[in-house]
Amino acid sequence: MDKLYDIAIIGAGPAGLTAAIYAKRAGLDVVMFENSAPGGKLVKTFEIDNWPGNPHVSGVDLALQMFGHTEELQVQTEFTGVREILDGHLKKIVTEDGRIFKTRAIIIATGTIENQMNIPGEEQNIGRGVSFCAVCDGAFYKGKEVVVIGGGNSALEESLYLTQFAKKVTIVIRRDVFRGDASVQQTVFDHPKIEIIRKHIPVEVLSADKKVIGIRLQSVDTKELTDLPCDGIFPYIGATPSTGFVKDLNICQEDGYIRVNDKMETCIKGIYAAGDVIVKPLRQIVTATSDGAVAAQMAFHYIKES
Ligand code: NDP
Repeated sequence: MDKLYDIAIIGAGPAGLTAAIYAKRAGLDVVMFENSAPGGKLVKTFEIDNWPGNPHVSGVDLALQMFGHTEELQVQTEFTGVREILDGHLKKIVTEDGRIFKTRAIIIATGTIENQMNIPGEEQNIGRGVSFCAVCDGAFYKGKEVVVIGGGNSALEESLYLTQFAKKVTIVIRRDVFRGDASVQQTVFDHPKIEIIRKHIPVEVLSADKKVIGIRLQSVDTKELTDLPCDGIFPYIGATPSTGFVKDLNICQEDGYIRVNDKMETCIKGIYAAGDVIVKPLRQIVTATSDGAVAAQMAFHYIKES
């Protein structure tokens, strides 16, 4: 394609959408790429309680509001993944569907993808009782028993969401303490439908007739194995940055997260990163939107000066 864009934004989660809003309002020519539904993790989150001014907003509603904002500003969105970035004074984006877009600056806001447990029985039972999205699949477990693995904010919040449907939710953690926020922990402790198994790790997904019937757990202390019957398993054990497509650019640290300075600049001029994909101490919607705004504003100055 011959057209030259000012900014290409990769990823339409809260960071990418905010960057698009700021860049467009600064008068830049913007193209945004998304390989799934706009909103990123928002669309997999039932309710958000810490978005200032709008407690209890649904994740899907907030995603639609943010995406609607970019549409109102006529941001061009291309629904395809990005395969590669070719660096140079003018940069090129190569999409999964084989197109090439030329741009002066790039903001990478591709977020993270959920980690799998990597245990026997997991892979073949995805969609048959193993799910990474309570909001998408929770309603299938009406009156059933489900197990949530992990003790971070995602595990705690999604466990609470699942109590609407399931008759029992068992949370399995490998230490004896949770990682998630204290306020959510307390709600979980107080919930009559939630049981907690501490100091156990999942070792096998058990299935019969092509559906999950339980999970085998191992005690961290005694190594003893226990089979816990259940109908569904929701692993929420952290996430990995979606940066495979930039591994040759040397902008990531060893674990895949992108290193940026306080201007959201990577070590390559004209390439910025924002949101969950960067090295940072707090991954939240508010910090992602903040990163997106900073990245867009800094890219604006870079484009005007280059
Ligand atoms: P976290 O990394 O915060 O938590 C992962 C959990 O999974 C931990 O309890 C960890 O145990 C456990 N775990 C990791 N690997 C394994 C394994 N192989 N087997 C068993 N358990 C395992 O991930 P989250 O996805 O919950 O959150 C990611 C980020 O997003 C965090 O910064 C979180 O605060 C943020 N977030 C914020 C929300 C909000 O504020 N509303 C909502 C959701 C996420 P251990 O503690 O022992 O390491």
